[in-house]
Amino acid sequence: MDQVDAVVVGAGLSGLVAARRLTSAGWRVAVLEARDRVGGRTLNADVDGWPGKVVEVGGQFTGPGQDAIQRVAGEVGIGTFPTYDLGVNLLELGGRVRRWRGREPWVGFAASAAYVRAEHTLNRMARTVPPERPWTTAQAAEWDAMTLADWIRGQVRSERARVLLAMAVRAVWSVEPEDLSLLHVLACVNAAGNLQRLVRTAGGAQQDRFVGGSQLIAEKLAERLPEPPRLQHPVQRIAQYEHHVLVSTQDTAIQARRVIVALPPMLAARIRYEPLPPGRTQLLARTPQGRTLKYLAVYDEPFWRRGGLSGQAASEQGPVTATFDNSPPDGSPGILLGFVTGRHARRLLDLPAAARQDEVLRCFAAWYGDRASRPRQVLVGSWTEEEWTRGCYAGYFTPGAWTSCGEWLRRAHGRVHWAGSETATRWIGFMDGAVTAGERAAAEVLAEFAGESGTRRRPAAK
Ligand SMILES: Cc1cc2nc3c(=O)[nH]c(=O)nc-3n(C[C@H](O)[C@H](O)[C@H](O)COP(=O)(O)OP(=O)(O)OC[C@H]3O[C@@H](n4cnc5c(N)ncnc54)[C@H](O)[C@@H]3O)c2cc1C
Repeated sequence: MDQVDAVVVGAGLSGLVAARRLTSAGWRVAVLEARDRVGGRTLNADVDGWPGKVVEVGGQFTGPGQDAIQRVAGEVGIGTFPTYDLGVNLLELGGRVRRWRGREPWVGFAASAAYVRAEHTLNRMARTVPPERPWTTAQAAEWDAMTLADWIRGQVRSERARVLLAMAVRAVWSVEPEDLSLLHVLACVNAAGNLQRLVRTAGGAQQDRFVGGSQLIAEKLAERLPEPPRLQHPVQRIAQYEHHVLVSTQDTAIQARRVIVALPPMLAARIRYEPLPPGRTQLLARTPQGRTLKYLAVYDEPFWRRGGLSGQAASEQGPVTATFDNSPPDGSPGILLGFVTGRHARRLLDLPAAARQDEVLRCFAAWYGDRASRPRQVLVGSWTEEEWTRGCYAGYFTPGAWTSCGEWLRRAHGRVHWAGSETATRWIGFMDGAVTAGERAAAEVLAEFAGESGTRRRPAAK
């Protein structure tokens, strides 16, 4: 049987960063990954006919305040470039397409004022919610018993402002306001700084992209590990003993001092733990994942730019709920990105692939003209249907989950530690969160070991 100092389960950004931290402290680490590739929810795809050009099917954007992912990217030689953000944006609301520029769309005095008021109120409430311990908030019981939809219904008088808020929720969490605990929303908002940062392009989480595509960060992290991640090694069982932990796949078992599980909760729940505290079991059952389909349509050029359009659209009607100009930095080829999120994704996922694509291209054509219905290539990320992701962008907390079992999110269970972007306390559910979570879990393992042995020396694996 193989023996290592630590096993990391999952070669997404979080697991790879954790492994990097442990190996640089001299530990021997085995990274076990279910897929045949690294990067998890980040994935680069080649663009047909444009050799060397890639497009991202998974997580891609970064922005101000996301220092951790940008630092790690910089360390492996990857820089950022701005998301294309010039020209007129589109907003489809109440059956009408409005054109707008600036920070927020203008939707009439009463509705715009109500939207901004709601944003400010949520930001103010969020500042009272510590992302490290949302359950200790003075109003935790009240806010965790409510969905965001309950709050919107009670507090926002303008119907149009309510619709805009629901659109923002679909864009950020890729679920409906009815799905989310209000306390969870507030924790995520505080963890990002404020709501505007979550929704905006300029000055927000969509401001920049990584040169060469975000999966390259994971690939470079993996290349630099002393031992490559073991691909196609889905972990099935983690059993703890007095002095070690045994991590098993179908064909192998590895003995280690510690294990870091760097998976979204829905995937972590599929592993058999011997034992697992009931609080943690409950937590895993109460943190489902959002639903998103991500479409990338490739054209010879970004023709919408010539018409003065930014390529950014948001729609209440759907099924495409948001678009971006996702062309490479030099603008060739032209690539339109369309997200299908929340209830629209729920409906589309029940249709055959061809019918889904027809609906998506119809949205593109309605906003950007007939040419948009004739792309050269269409790439799709259907993460809900991926066995090793099962939903995205990330896991979220349903009402009651934070106050009843939230304390189990990061609490190590014996020799088992938890990472993954859902366990972050800044930019929860983002690539940045994946990095800080991985670093935090690795630091925890090193500190535990130092405490156990009274030394910071590397453990003897064999
Ligand atoms: C469509 C989409 C768009 C997104 N957009 C953005 C964005 O613009 N900006 C942003 O910051 N974030 C975005 N995100 C979220 C971001 O990609 C994730 O938060 C981040 O990549 C998560 O990293 P992770 O390491 O925590 O988890 P993951 O990337 O999910 O890694 C977990 C790994 O574990 C593996 N695994 C699962 N089960 C097992 C098992 N039993 N044994 C072994 N391995 C297993 C998986 O294959 C995977 O490789 C987006 C995500 C998606 C899907």
